[in-house]
Amino acid sequence: MLRGRLTLLYSTLMGGVILLFGMAVYALVNVTLVNQIDDLLNNTAEDILEIARVDAVGELTILRLPPLDISTNVYVQVWDRHGRLISTSLESAQFPEALDNQGLVSLEANFRSIDYHGVHMRVLSLPLSVGGRDAGTMQVASSLAVVDSVREDLLYILIMAAIFAVIIAGIGSWLTIERSLAPLDTILATTEQINRADDLSRRIPYKHLPNDEVGQLVLAFNQTLERLETIFTSQQRFLADVSHELRTPLTVIKGNVGLMRRMNTVDEETLVSIDQEANRLTRLVGDLLLLAQAETGKIPLQKDALELDSLLFEVIQEMHILAGDKLMLKLSEIDQIQIQGDRDRLKQVLLNLVSNAIQYTPEGGEIFLSLSKVGKEARLIIRDTGPGIPAEDLPHIFDRFYRTEKSRTRSKASGFGLGLSIAYWIIANHDGKIDVESIEGEGSTFTISLPLFDSRKSKHLSVED
Ligand code: ADP
Repeated sequence: MLRGRLTLLYSTLMGGVILLFGMAVYALVNVTLVNQIDDLLNNTAEDILEIARVDAVGELTILRLPPLDISTNVYVQVWDRHGRLISTSLESAQFPEALDNQGLVSLEANFRSIDYHGVHMRVLSLPLSVGGRDAGTMQVASSLAVVDSVREDLLYILIMAAIFAVIIAGIGSWLTIERSLAPLDTILATTEQINRADDLSRRIPYKHLPNDEVGQLVLAFNQTLERLETIFTSQQRFLADVSHELRTPLTVIKGNVGLMRRMNTVDEETLVSIDQEANRLTRLVGDLLLLAQAETGKIPLQKDALELDSLLFEVIQEMHILAGDKLMLKLSEIDQIQIQGDRDRLKQVLLNLVSNAIQYTPEGGEIFLSLSKVGKEARLIIRDTGPGIPAEDLPHIFDRFYRTEKSRTRSKASGFGLGLSIAYWIIANHDGKIDVESIEGEGSTFTISLPLFDSRKSKHLSVED
């Protein structure tokens, strides 16, 4: 488990740091204490040497040993060059052998830690010479009992501190990691629930999100679920819509064919109805294909320099026929504007918007069209005085198959609710945008913005070509 591994890692790290630190402290204290003892031995040796005498034959005599400080526990032995003990301090008198045998034969002053009758001692062996001749050896020693006991205590304290620190670090990191990783358990549980119940509507529950990566993960995960759910439900709705739209014409065709078969006659009226429904089906399939291509940006567009004003005139002319005496089609403003685009597709968009306006505006209404330059954009406005679009429908008006309540209950001749989605995507594929504003009962205004034709770009291209 992640928690166990992290806890082990932190505790081991903490243990390692304490171990290194402890070793450094231990070594430092050890060296300091032993150095102090060594200094004491040195000073004592110097004091004694001041009162040492060497006679004419070269024999060494110590007049008397200075009074040693009892509390420091210093022992002294002076050996002549024949290996005889000349002088000894009171405390070591009971032991006739040398404090450090090896030190006696050494030619240089040296400090050694030895075991003398079961006592741990530090011994300074100092060879004495007169005029270059060996005159004997002086050994000054002190017990290391205090140093040993300090060392032992220190070692004990360090080990206990290390164990204590490792346990505290272990418990501390276990608890902190548990708290930090707790949301991960919830994420896991939620994911399992989603998988088991096939339910994308679940979210990871939280009260206070931690302000860290885990908190961000929870937020991102919930957002992903939200998106997935939206895509999934829109996909399901799309399938249901398509099936619904396909079923109506197919039922009519099937019913009519069955009727003709039963009557055993070919009836012109029934044939017309079948033809109409087949056309409707063809339109639906065509629209769906176009929409699928446009949505994925794979729509084949033949983009050329295009006079938008002449295209608008063409659309108005065609639409005049559709409007007939029912409505007034008015051109309020028109600028000469060139853009780069696919003529047929843009005409399809304009025809769709104007025919919507004509279709939904009641008799006697008006439709205003205008085309103007605004900054680096061409702005095309189609405004009608129709019933308007309810505010709750406005955000969905460009969705696939979306129709307002009124149009849904209209005659079967009404569209599939795909026209505005197709228009949206065709304009998007031209780097433009389409907006709608509407007040219920007063009318709707559709605005298309498209980038103006940039002649510099095309010249540059032709040079490269
Ligand atoms: P349809 O083929 O149903 O017209 P569209 O995608 O073109 O599909 O339009 C979607 C819906 O938007 C329509 O069903 C209608 O409810 C609403 N709508 C579009 N244009 C207008 C308009 N000018 N006035 C009122 N409602 C409109």
